[in-house]
Amino acid sequence: MPSQTNGSATHSANIAANLRQINTHIAEFCQQYQRDPNEISLLAVSKTKPAEDIRSAFNAGQRCFGENYLQEALQKIHTLHNLPIEWHFIGSIQSNKTRELAENFAWVHSVDRLKIARRLSEQRPEFMSPLNICLQVNISEETSKSGLLLNDLSAIVTEVAQLPNITLRGLMAIPAKADTLTAQRATFNKIHQALQMLQKSHPEMDTLSMGMSNDMEAAIAEGSTILRIGTAIFGARNYT
Ligand SMILES: *Cc1c(COP(=O)(O)O)cnc(C)c1O
Repeated sequence: MPSQTNGSATHSANIAANLRQINTHIAEFCQQYQRDPNEISLLAVSKTKPAEDIRSAFNAGQRCFGENYLQEALQKIHTLHNLPIEWHFIGSIQSNKTRELAENFAWVHSVDRLKIARRLSEQRPEFMSPLNICLQVNISEETSKSGLLLNDLSAIVTEVAQLPNITLRGLMAIPAKADTLTAQRATFNKIHQALQMLQKSHPEMDTLSMGMSNDMEAAIAEGSTILRIGTAIFGARNYT
């Protein structure tokens, strides 16, 4: 073997090391906050990153990947179609793009209106299992962010739960940036409480999609079941 390390081999090893480290952190936080590690899964957020980075993470054992931009996602899904990857869509949704979501993803986390849920259900192909969806909550009530307000949730949940080809799994949130663990936990706690309220009439809702690279600990402490981690796995994104 030549002893030289090329850049891409090093990069791939970094991704594997990052994944090991994050999984170790998750295990440690589970102990600290008395969470069952089997109830938490790691979604690797690969937006803006090349298919080769996804392959590196896959080779290190990661199976679930999250994408935000539909065209970019479809290219990677095509490139990597030989790998048994579970694809999750976490970006904002245009209603004329729902068919491609329904046909290509296992999960959509960012459903923020009834019309989108209806279209996803209508357009989910018969031969596929129901599409898993989360309703996105605008937990910090920022006008710049999409998502449902907490007060509107129970009405839409009643409607969405009846749609035949989707399974309503839970809630997703992207809180406003907060720098302390206490502040992060307070926001995540609100969404956890909202889920618990909904679970009384919809026990099938088992998912809280919350927690990113900078607020993973708070999310685990407050009941997250899917952590969406990008930067800490793949490094900083370059949008140019
Ligand atoms: C980009 C993104 C993430 C990952 O964020 P990091 O800070 O890179 O971990 C998670 N969720 C959503 C919805 C995103 O758009």
